[in-house]
Amino acid sequence: MAAEWAVKIRDAADALAPQLREWREALHRHPELGLETPWTQEYVWNELVKLGCEPKKCGQAGITVLLGKKEGKVFLLRADMDALPLTEVSEESFCSQNPGKMHACGHDMHTAMLLGAAKILKENEDLLEGRVKLMFESGEETGNGASDMIAGGVLEDPKVDAAEMIHVAAGAPFPTGLLLIPQGGTGASASCCFKITATGKGGHGAMPSVCVDPITALCHIHSGIEEIFAREAELCDFLAITVGQFHAGNAPNVIPNTAEMSGSIRTMSVEKMKWAQQRIREIAEAIAEAYRAKADVEYTGFLPPLIADKDTADSAASYLAEIFGSGAMRIPSDTRGGGSEDFAFISAEVPSVPLFLAAGNANEGYKYPAHHPGVRFDETALPRGTAAHVYIAMRWLEEHK
Ligand SMILES: [Zn+2]
Ligand SMILES: [Zn+2]
Repeated sequence: MAAEWAVKIRDAADALAPQLREWREALHRHPELGLETPWTQEYVWNELVKLGCEPKKCGQAGITVLLGKKEGKVFLLRADMDALPLTEVSEESFCSQNPGKMHACGHDMHTAMLLGAAKILKENEDLLEGRVKLMFESGEETGNGASDMIAGGVLEDPKVDAAEMIHVAAGAPFPTGLLLIPQGGTGASASCCFKITATGKGGHGAMPSVCVDPITALCHIHSGIEEIFAREAELCDFLAITVGQFHAGNAPNVIPNTAEMSGSIRTMSVEKMKWAQQRIREIAEAIAEAYRAKADVEYTGFLPPLIADKDTADSAASYLAEIFGSGAMRIPSDTRGGGSEDFAFISAEVPSVPLFLAAGNANEGYKYPAHHPGVRFDETALPRGTAAHVYIAMRWLEEHK
């Protein structure tokens, strides 16, 4: 079936190009943040209904669709739908109509590609050797969308056996349409944020001896946690600890009661993350005590590392070679990176493959990367993303009956 399907799916996706652009541009005009995506959800819901699908609410702000008439395995395709708190300066004709919000990570592209996949899968539902579950997720950038949908049952009823996602990339030297496939293993790092509050005893700047200065304690804590990387981390381990905020006091001649700093930790495993969290806590508490102060350490926003399952990634690579030819894809030797991806919560539960689709070559005017207020994405990549979703799901189900 493979060769016959490949041509059919590719042609169907190419023919859908104007519709994909229309969906994408409508979504781009109406960016929304986090789990607060009412316009986007209603739009996606209505378009799915027009395609003959039966969308369901999942979690606080997600939508799922189940396609396929035969019992069997379940393959999940995921798109995220949320935007970033940025003011757009891209000068696109369809730029953001919501001040201070922008689809700067390409999630509008992702949602359009998955709507396209919904249309083609619906039209070919009889051919599916199992079921495809579509996952439209809000709250990716805020890191709470996937866990919200997992709590809402996205991976159950019917139980999901494997999952795939595509993220577009702009501003890189890749030809538009190139697909990057991981070899398997850890991709994006695990991450979390920390906040350390040092509490001392405030007072007059002329009388430090009767006060306990939390700023002094916090400065030493800052130096102390820098040593975790310098003196304790293994050479081959990726570890980044960054303090991005440091706040204390309101006047030059007053010792404040408290001082605060916040930062982020990134590691390549959950174990390393737990270890780094423990060491930061131990160092902060012990140093604060040495300076007669007290430190409270808080961790928030944990994301596990993004894991590509080797078998699923190998399968995806072989299917993509069938439909687009091996020249349309690349399997980099190392896809590890310090960025984070909320799909990590899915990849921690089921065998998963995260794919990257080049959508804007730096040499062709798409010079800014994602998260830049001037970023533009090349819409000619949309049919390829749609075809990749459809074909990977169909072939995976065929080979895993
Ligand atoms: Zn992003
Ligand atoms: Zn993104």
